[in-house]
This record gives sequence, structure tokens and C-alpha cells, in this order.
Amino acid sequence: MKLLIANWKMNLVDHQNWLSSFDSNFNKSHINNSLKIIICPNFLQLADMSQKNSLSNRFIFGAQNVSENPPGAYTGEISVEHLLEIGIDYCIVGHSERRALGETDFIVKDKVEKLLSKKITPVICIGESFEIQKNNETKTFLLSQLELLLKDKNLNLNKCVFAYEPLWAIGKGIPADLSTIKTSISYIKKVFDEYNLSLTILYGGSVNEKNSSEILSVDHISGFLVGNSSLDGKEFANIAKNF
Ligand code: PEP
Repeated sequence: MKLLIANWKMNLVDHQNWLSSFDSNFNKSHINNSLKIIICPNFLQLADMSQKNSLSNRFIFGAQNVSENPPGAYTGEISVEHLLEIGIDYCIVGHSERRALGETDFIVKDKVEKLLSKKITPVICIGESFEIQKNNETKTFLLSQLELLLKDKNLNLNKCVFAYEPLWAIGKGIPADLSTIKTSISYIKKVFDEYNLSLTILYGGSVNEKNSSEILSVDHISGFLVGNSSLDGKEFANIAKNF
């Protein structure tokens, strides 16, 4: 199964316009039963869009974030139980933009645990900074981001999706070079193999309609997490057609 995830972040996306652009570029003949298209809008749109039958039978909906805490006195937060109430199937965790706001590997693990307990699939983002890449420390860093998760024998990581997103390629318009993507993804696969885990790994970082076919050809990549190029329904449809 391949996955294509749109992360709309906090952008203002008119979902009606987005859908008509998507639909005029993606017709019935493009439907690919081995591709799941997952849209992660803001929480307000998520509650609205995920309840519309006309949308929920074509797309899967995901949250961009969730609290690591149980329901209760946490002003402004959204719990896993809230996501469950509206039937959400996927949730991004550990995105670099959230890590920059203080989301640690411990918090990521708590979120993963809570999501899995409610059968919501965590999409766990990992990836190194430019500095780390330059110092040839990518493998050590990726392992450090995975370690807490791998050591917890109670977590069924086979039920998670991982997204390799080198920070230096996010939102830059130029993705990581194929050789870096290949090296990092095969390293992550090797680590997973050592733990007898099967791997669902996506790439994220400046994927667009022009570069997506080539990146998709890299071994062990099961799809993409897309930011900027997911904001335009037409471009996102063109990426979906490349699967
Ligand atoms: C992201 O933020 O996860 C991302 C991949 O963004 P972009 O596609 O804009 O690089």
C-alpha cells in the first residue's frame, strides 16, 4: 500500500477551491486502489471535512498534531479521544515544526502510545538538520530519534508510519539529493530489520509534481508527506497520478 499525505499546516486553504482543482486533474481513471490519499487540514477543517460523506469516501483524514495528555484541563489542546470522536485514522507526530516548539522524543513516544491505544495510525517524522548532515552524523541522529520507540516492547511499531524528512529539505523547493534519501532510508530499514519490524516509510521535503516520480523510485519508499505542494489541488493531484 502506498500513502500520499497532504500537510496543509496552518495555511489558509479554501477547501472548495482545492477540491475543484484536485477533481479537474484527477478523474475516475486515475483512481489507484493501492494508494491512500490522506489530507491533514487544520482542526476546524478536519472536523468539518471528515464528516462529509462525499469527501470521506474518497479521502482519508488525518490530524497534524494531538496532545500527549488525557482529556482534561489542558487549554487549547486536542486529545486522542477527540480525534476518535470524529473518526480520524491518522495523526502526524514529531514534525520538525512541532519539535522546534518543544516536542521531545519522550513526548513523541507518549503521543504514539496514546494514538495506538485508540487504533489511530501515528505518522512519525524523523530527520536531521543541515549541520548534522554536514558533520556526517545523520545515522547516529536518526537512531537517537528512534531509540525510545524501539526500546518500548509494548509499542507495535508495525502499526506506525515513519516519514524521513531531512530538515534542510523542508519548504526549500529543492528536495534532498537521491543519494542522501537512499542512504538514510536504507539505514532506517536496516534498523527496523534488526528489530524484526516491517517498514512503512515515506519521504518528505520539497516533493512536487516534477520530482515525485524519481523519488518514488527509491527502494523502500512507500509514499510522501507533502507540505507546500499539497496546498494546490492541481499539483497535489499531479503527484497522486505519479503513483
Ligand atoms: C513538511 O513540512 O513536512 C514538508 C514536507 O514540507 P514541504 O513539502 O513544503 O517541504
